[in-house]
Order: sequence, then structure tokens, then C-alpha cells
Amino acid sequence: MAVLDIRVLGDPILRERTAPTPRVTDAVRALVADMFETMYAAEGIGLAAPQVGRTERVFVMDVDDNPLAMMNPEILARDGSERAEEGCLSIPEIFGDVDRATRAVVRAVGIDGKPFEVELTGLAARCVQHELDHLDGKLFIDYLSLIKRKFMARKWEKEATNYPDFIRKLEPGKPRSRRSRSRETSPGGTDEPFEPEL
Ligand code: ZN
Repeated sequence: MAVLDIRVLGDPILRERTAPTPRVTDAVRALVADMFETMYAAEGIGLAAPQVGRTERVFVMDVDDNPLAMMNPEILARDGSERAEEGCLSIPEIFGDVDRATRAVVRAVGIDGKPFEVELTGLAARCVQHELDHLDGKLFIDYLSLIKRKFMARKWEKEATNYPDFIRKLEPGKPRSRRSRSRETSPGGTDEPFEPEL
């Protein structure tokens, strides 16, 4: 297992649409294991293959200690709507309000190669919608108003200088920011509002 580099906004791979992955091979299983390790190292709750420079149609997520790996996922049903703040491991320090369905029924192939269906609500439903967007080359900032996107672009211009060649190298054990530290110190991470990074 290995912690992979994360691609940040500006890397063209984040805008590419992935094609269905035909089979769960050893290479896919190794990728999924590395993606889980990378997601935990980055203190995120979701991570999609394009974020680590790969084109497999797969993502991993872990909300409320429920790790899930989904290959070729599709949303069968969704309902409800909630606006909440979101972040993205590929756009560090940028956050914005996004409307998402509050419930989603998802069908995917697991790393055992078997199809499964799962019903997700709340933050887990938000996460699956965010990750599925990644597999279609879409980012949460696409949902923001023009004014917010302009504001974000200015902030990102400065932030992006921390990531030469659009590469974010993770340093395990090193607190990333004030936000992540305050998250770690709140029991279960749920007492205070926080911006999930996916
Ligand atoms: Zn993301």
C-alpha cells in the first residue's frame, strides 16, 4: 500500500470523464487499497480515481466508519435536497455551498467483483454524488454562482502556488491546516460544523 499524490485543480485529468472499468483485477484492488490509504492520510471522506491521476471508474469513501469502494457506480434513485458546505481534496482550502440530494440509492461493483446496491443518506449521500461527479470530470465548484467562482479563482491563484505541476504531496502525520486540527480535536468530528473534503 502507498500514499499517492493527489492531483489538484488545473490538472486536466480532473476534467476527463472515466470509462467503465471492465473487471476487478489485482491492479484495481491495489489501486483501491492505495486510494483508501491516501484518503485517510489526507483526512478526507471520499476520493475518486482521477484525483490520483487514474482513469478507472472507481472511488472510495468512508463516512461514519463505513468504508465503501465502488466501481462503475450509478445512482438509481435520489430524492430530497439540502444545501451544505463542501470541500474537495483536489481544491484545498476552497469551500462552497452545494445543493445535493439527501438520499441516494446506488448500484456499483465491489472489489470482490460482485454488484451491490446501497441506500445512503445525509453526508454519505452527498459524498457519493460528489465522487460520481469526479468520475464524469465534474467538480463541486461548477455548481457555485459566477460571483463565487470568481472569488474562488482569485483565492485559488495564491493557493495553487503550493502545488507545482498540480501535484499535492501528502505528508502523513503533519497537521494540514487549522481546519483539520480543529476537526481532529472535536470528538467524532461531528460536534462542530466542518467542511467535508471529498
Ligand atoms: Zn472532490
